[in-house]
This record gives sequence, C-alpha cells and structure tokens, in this order.
Amino acid sequence: MQDIRHFVNGAAFEGGSGRFGDVFNPNTGEVESRVQLATAAELDAAVAAAALVQPAWAAVNPQRRARVMFEFKRLVEANMEELALILSSQHGKVIADSKGDIVRGLDVIEFACGIPHALKGEYTEGAGPGIDVYSMRQALGVVAGITPFNFPAMIPMWMFGVAIACGNTFILKPSEKDPGVPVRLAELFMEAGANLGMDLKGVLNVVHGDKAVVDAILANPTISAVSFVGSSDIAQYVYATGTANGKRVQAMGGAKNHGVVLPDADLDQVVKDLSGAAFGSAGERCMALPVVVPVGKATADELRKRMVAEIESLRVGISTDPQAHYGPVVSAAHRDKIADYIRIGEAEGAELVVDGRGFSLQGYEKGFFIGPSLFDNVKKGMRTYQEEIFGPVLQIVRAETFEEALSLPSEHQYGNGVAIFTRDGAAARQFASRVNVGMVGINVPIPVPVAYHTFGGWKRSAFGDTNQHGMEGVKFWTKVKTITSRWPEGAVTGNSFVIPTMA
Ligand code: NAD
Repeated sequence: MQDIRHFVNGAAFEGGSGRFGDVFNPNTGEVESRVQLATAAELDAAVAAAALVQPAWAAVNPQRRARVMFEFKRLVEANMEELALILSSQHGKVIADSKGDIVRGLDVIEFACGIPHALKGEYTEGAGPGIDVYSMRQALGVVAGITPFNFPAMIPMWMFGVAIACGNTFILKPSEKDPGVPVRLAELFMEAGANLGMDLKGVLNVVHGDKAVVDAILANPTISAVSFVGSSDIAQYVYATGTANGKRVQAMGGAKNHGVVLPDADLDQVVKDLSGAAFGSAGERCMALPVVVPVGKATADELRKRMVAEIESLRVGISTDPQAHYGPVVSAAHRDKIADYIRIGEAEGAELVVDGRGFSLQGYEKGFFIGPSLFDNVKKGMRTYQEEIFGPVLQIVRAETFEEALSLPSEHQYGNGVAIFTRDGAAARQFASRVNVGMVGINVPIPVPVAYHTFGGWKRSAFGDTNQHGMEGVKFWTKVKTITSRWPEGAVTGNSFVIPTMA
C-alpha cells in the first residue's frame, strides 16, 4: 500500500511521528493508501524551510512570481486527467466535477498571474511642501492554509495561489481524507519553477495531519497568518486560537444555503438547477442548495411533483462512471451521519418524500453510497433544518409570502450563499439587497463568485473579516506600509511641537 508523505523543501518528507491515517477509495470502501500525520516536529521542519527562503522569494520581482503562476497553470492543465483521477478516487466526486474543482482553483491561479497589477501601491505627490506619501503591500512572511476534504484542489489553490504570488511562503495542511492532489500540486509547483530556472524549494510545503498539527500551526510563532476552510465549530476554534496567538486569521465555516422560488419562476429551469445544486458532488459542497423555499402552495406542490420525477432520473454511480450524476460520499461515517439526519427528520415530523437510505450499487456494495432524499414540510424549528447535513438531501420549507421566504435564510445561523429564482427584476433586486447572507445568486443556483471577485459568507459561515481571493485575498496575505517622505528645498524650517498637519 502506498504512503502519502509530507512535501517539505521541495521533496517528499518522511517525518518521524509514526502516526498514519487511512485514505479510502469511497467507491470500493477500501483503504487505498495511508497518509502521514504530523506532529509539531514535522511542522517545525516545514516552517524552517519556508522561513529560510521567504526573504529571497519576496525579493523576486512580482512579474517573475507571476510567471511561475502562468507556468504552474500550464502544468496543472497538462496533468488534468491524472489529477482528476486522484481527486475522484479519494473524494468520490465524479470525474467531470473533479475537473471542475481543479479548474475553479486554476481560475484563482489565473488571477494570481495578474499580481503585479494587484500589488501596485498608492502614491500622493505633494501631500505637503516637498512631501510625498506612498503605500506598499508587503508579504507577511510564512503563512498557512488548512483545507477541508470537499474541494481538495480548488481551496488549496484559492489560498496558496494568492499568498505565494504576494511573496509569502506557504504551509498547506490539507484534509487528511483526500491528501493526494495537494501533494501533486506542490510537486507541479516545483516543476514550474524548475522550468523557469528557479529553485522554489520551501516556497510551498505540504504537511498532513489532524488536530495535532492544526494546533501546532496555531501555536507556531513564525507563522503569521492562517486561512482555514472547514466546519463552523472548528473554524471558530481556529479563529479564536489563532487570533489569541497574534495571528491574522480568516476561517470559513459551514453552510445551509436556501433557494427561494417565487411563483413566476421558470420551474423547468429551477428543477434542473436545484437537482444539480442539491445532489451534485453528493451534496458535499458549501455552496450546495439543500433547502428550497417555494412561495405559495401552488408553487410548492408543482415543484415537489417535478422534483420527485427529476430525482427518479438521477443516476448514482462510481466516480469514474461518465453517466453518473454523483458518486459516493467521502466516508462511511459521513454516510451514516447523513442517514441519521434522515431518521431525525422523520422523527421530528418532516415528510420524507424520497428516501435515499438503503441504496446499494451492484459490485460496489461496500462503497459509501447514499441515494438522493427529499423532505417536504420541513419547519424552521427542526434540527435537520438548523444544522448542515452536507449530503444528497433536499428539504422543502414552504413559505406563504416573499417576506417569509426572505426571513428564512436571513435568520438562519449560516449565511454562506442563497439563491432566488424569479422573472421579476424588482423582487430579485430587493431580495439581493435585503437578505442577510454573503453571496447571492439571482437565477444562479451556486453563486460562487469568479476568482477576481471574492468568496466569503456571513454569520457562522465565516469568522474574520476578509474573504478568499480577489483583492480581498491580496489584502489578507499582505500588510500595508505607508511612507511619508520629505525632500525639502531651501532653508531649514524651525522646530515644531504640534502634531504635523498639512494645513
Ligand atoms: P472539518 O472541519 O472536519 O475539517 C477541516 C480541516 O480541519 C481539515 O484540514 C481537518 O484536518 C481539520 N480538523 C478536523 N478536526 C479538527 C479539530 N478538532 N481541530 C482542528 N482541526 C481539525 O471539515 P470537512 O469535513 O473537511 O469539510 C466540510 C466542511 O467544510 C463543511 O462544513 C463545509 O460546509 C465546510 N466548507 C466551507 C466552505 C466555505 O468556504 N465556507 C468551503 C468548503 C467547505
């Protein structure tokens, strides 16, 4: 069996913790490899490597740093099939969706190719007599990213793409459930440097592990910033601990995104959009749409009828089946947790219209599969409505009015994404303006913003005040220095004991 090792200072790194985690193939339910789990000692080695090269990397001019990103993007594209296969076999998402995961990460790398422009500072000539003021954005130093299992390519690239382009060196702690792709990305990053005649050892390091290494990252005094994406309780813990230790932290958490359907919506399109957004990637997306809020009884009844027919047409299969709409979930424990939520939903009085439990795929009986489920008449107070299920379960929460529909996502503990489906521009505009959620789609079921905009939710979906990628990412991974300079001409001026003003 293959071991997945840390990647430190440009090479595989054995480490001495002696601790390993199992990496499963969710299609077969079998362990396909083991991943090393670091302790603080392995982390220290990676941080030392990153710290050693950081000043030199920051001194590489931004255009050359951008060229590394161009070359890295080219290499990832050239290795797309291999990367998608690794991703699919460890995560369980179908190949086309695995490629989407990689491509959305590459979009951020493409944004990072424009880093010279993004890092240009500000300048005021003549702010006072002989005085010019300018500001510059400088790298923070050694920084870290801690990522979830559900986007093992995109989310690491969100983080290290921008951070490294800004002149930082990086420690990536990927999910221990699907760590294969992050290591391949780091190898390709080294290759990108080598192709340009640059030695990038230490610029991007991958340290695998669980809570022990996350705690070591949060305690390490050399690491100045931490970006985290995962579930909310852990995001809050990472935010609280990291900031208490003086670090800059952004920590994205869980989600429960609502799709509001107004009576005038194009239901044919809504049903297609909903099935992709609720069941794609087996619902394991923080921007999935697991809650649909039809407004009015007629809309709800019609939507439910069509949704049942749509669900019957869905094909659940192994992740390499090109006909499959979605594959297995990531682990047996996660499948059981989803099944448990379905049981709780029934017990708390929601109407289980389609039950995905008990689904089994011939020849893959040990795989972590679960069929699509649909609940109707889900109510606000129910636990299955309040909590994130993160599986292929769609919940219909009926609303009488626009105001009631607007209040549901607005009052929910999570505020990652939301969508409204309507043909009424004024209603959509009002909804977008008033809803208490960070990312809004208007007839767009999964409103993940493009890379040069920025990604981030509200409420318990994000801790900290700076989003991922776009100019918010550049802000997060840099600090501003402002210089006030005077080149006096003429006579010496007298001393002054009042605060300088430009008056
Ligand atoms: P998770 O919180 O279990 O793990 C995230 C990371 O934290 C992993 O690297 C993991 O090793 C580490 N970790 C696990 N337990 C820890 C602990 N006790 N202390 C410290 N670190 C720990 O999340 P997951 O199951 O990998 O990912 C799914 C979750 O991520 C969902 O809640 C989903 O909504 C969320 N997510 C959010 C976004 C977003 O941008 N808001 C994006 C993707 C996923």
